[in-house]
Amino acid sequence: MVKYIAEPFRIKSVEPLKMLTVEERKEKIKEAKYNLFGLKSEDVYIDLLTDSGTNAMSSQQWAGVMVGDESYAGASSYRHVIENAQEIFGYKYIQPVHQGRAAEKVLLPLLLHEGMFAISNMHFDTTRAHVEQTGARAIDCVVKEALDTTGYFDFKGNMDNVRLVKLIEEHGAKNIGVIIMTITNNSAGGQPVSVANIRETAAIAKKYGITFMIDAARYAENAFFVKQREPEFKNASIQDIIHEVFALADVFTMSSKKDAIVNMGGLIGVKENCELFEKVNGRCITLEGFVTYGGMSGRDLEALAIGLKEGINEDFLRYRIGQMQYLAGRLDEAGIAYQSPVGGHAVFVDAAKFLPHIPYYEFPAQALAVELYIEAGIRCCDIGSYMLGNDPDTKEQLKADFEFTRLAVPRRVYTQAHLDVIADALCAIKDRAPTIKGYKIVKEPPVLRHFTAELAPLE
Ligand SMILES: *Cc1c(COP(=O)(O)O)cnc(C)c1O
Repeated sequence: MVKYIAEPFRIKSVEPLKMLTVEERKEKIKEAKYNLFGLKSEDVYIDLLTDSGTNAMSSQQWAGVMVGDESYAGASSYRHVIENAQEIFGYKYIQPVHQGRAAEKVLLPLLLHEGMFAISNMHFDTTRAHVEQTGARAIDCVVKEALDTTGYFDFKGNMDNVRLVKLIEEHGAKNIGVIIMTITNNSAGGQPVSVANIRETAAIAKKYGITFMIDAARYAENAFFVKQREPEFKNASIQDIIHEVFALADVFTMSSKKDAIVNMGGLIGVKENCELFEKVNGRCITLEGFVTYGGMSGRDLEALAIGLKEGINEDFLRYRIGQMQYLAGRLDEAGIAYQSPVGGHAVFVDAAKFLPHIPYYEFPAQALAVELYIEAGIRCCDIGSYMLGNDPDTKEQLKADFEFTRLAVPRRVYTQAHLDVIADALCAIKDRAPTIKGYKIVKEPPVLRHFTAELAPLE
């Protein structure tokens, strides 16, 4: 049994939850057309839809909200963000923006244009969209170990550097606008990337003269995994590991809604290229707002300055990653497969193995997500064929590499007992798994259908 690492905080403010009956939930999910995004949040007991912007702020951060400086120019809250970010990342230039995709929108068109390529260990979906909006193409280049959900590998998020070199040679270095290292690798299941791997990628980028960017949404969780699993860093501090990693790159974009433990915010970092940073400032002014607020209110900047520090605290990270490892341990005991070893922010349950009688075109991961809501009021989502959608040319349903039901855990929000409710619900569903039916789509929009599609259970 995996030991639960107790919370390094106590609770000062609570948010009461409504408890519905199974019968009431059956009614609610039917009204929502079996789409979890269609539920009212107050009808959800444990919300695992995402860990993005759903974090609980500390008493320090709430105090910061009160002293946030709302001045248009030169606000003290802006300076607090810059000072803390410069110290943590070791970069000369920092620009706040309103969230991660805004950082991508401001920076990526400065590096990419029509006919070029971005290569990443895996592009997050908004990153891919912003690459493609410049007219460039996005290529994923993750190690093959990531594709085997049950095989153990310490760093399933790593870049396949052998393939990276082949891709550069094939397309020509001058056509590769940027190499992007996403830490942790969200799309592979929140999987970490080793410092050794980042060093290799950085050396390749340098050799070919290509800008090396970090997508830093979960950089602190990544640093904790490095400390746990990479012997060289066994005795290093989280801060030292972060310095080591960021010194290898030229720029970073970051969604602060994850490891900076706030509800809204983002950052762009430029290590030393002053000319590039001036262009970032210019685009920020037209797209986000003046450089000293970047689309953020002063109170949100103040909370971000504090959250950046809290997010790299080792006791916090041990507890945070410990929650994931505890939940994964309960699934191991029950013989439930997931992307293992578990990553940093979510457990990705292998629904294709959980519901082997439901084919991909009847959406096993969506079926499991609906059952979790009915069983215990848990809201999570499909990361599988239902989310992937249809081939744009043939209109045929595509088959995803994985059928994952993703249980994303917000930071500092749920307790051990909540995690037990989740594990118990999965065990109960496993007992009746053969009776669970798949779904068909009755109405869908042309793009990003999973947010608004309407489904019906198959008889
Ligand atoms: C969330 C996320 C983004 C986008 O950030 P938003 O704040 O949601 O716009 C980009 N990359 C990764 C890896 C993410 O997890």
